[in-house]
Amino acid sequence: MLKSKVAIVTGSTSGIGLGIARQLARLRANIVLNGFGDASEIEAIRGGIEREHGVRVVYDGADMSKGDAVRRLIATTVETFGRLDILVNNAGIQFTAPVEEFPPANWHAILDINLSAAFHGIAAAVPEMKKQGWGRIVNIASAHGLVGSTHKAAYVAAKHGLIGLTKVVGLETAGTGVTCNAVCPGWVRTPLVEKQISDIAAQKNISQMDAAKALLGEKQPSSEFVSPEQLGGTVAFLCSAAADQITGTAISVDGGWTAQ
Ligand code: NAD
Repeated sequence: MLKSKVAIVTGSTSGIGLGIARQLARLRANIVLNGFGDASEIEAIRGGIEREHGVRVVYDGADMSKGDAVRRLIATTVETFGRLDILVNNAGIQFTAPVEEFPPANWHAILDINLSAAFHGIAAAVPEMKKQGWGRIVNIASAHGLVGSTHKAAYVAAKHGLIGLTKVVGLETAGTGVTCNAVCPGWVRTPLVEKQISDIAAQKNISQMDAAKALLGEKQPSSEFVSPEQLGGTVAFLCSAAADQITGTAISVDGGWTAQ
């Protein structure tokens, strides 16, 4: 149980982040939702989680591409709740192109949101967590934090960097009650991957269903998508006492992708 604990999940208006936020709320943590989207849809999600689980849920629309905004998100959370126990760095974007054609603006945006946001959030959160003598930092990396794929120079670089950051923060917080770990999902059927499925369908002139099969078949031996709920369960495990001594590591939830 995470009763009375406060968790920020960045990029939690959709996909994996929303699955993680729901799971932490189920365990009675108060939640700070973050991410973009339609205001009334976000309010429906916020109110829905609050009512379903009897916890306090607030929304903060901080832009993870801006370091100052990330640091403000942490400060505002501490002002609002008087504490911060769990930080899940999940917000992320994707863009694919061969390296020689990769637009520098997309490179910088991916590095800012998928890697630097975690640095700023962690830097602001660690003092608070150390003061409390307990904290959990979970960085949502990717199978692409461990292995490469073509056309994903920025994403693969950012996710490998995120795992490096995880190791350093795990070492720097060891013995303080704070842990820092990465979770490395394989394919999860979220809007971020839906676009890649549509691209395959268009390129190969096949249906969405066949494109999804092709996507899985290329990388994920289980031939099944990972679900946001399963990733919520992984984060919940990392927040449990059973994981007190797990720090500085990367946990794969990838249907066997990186075992190959
Ligand atoms: P998604 O597109 O469904 O959700 C991304 C979330 O990030 C949304 O809430 C969006 O609003 C938010 N976001 C984007 N830019 C932001 C910004 N500048 N500031 C604040 N919020 C922002 O994607 P997803 O698939 O749920 O991805 C979540 C994380 O999981 C990402 O870090 C992604 O790299 C990682 N991941 C996804 C997969 C997958 O197969 N879907 C696999 C491995 C890792």
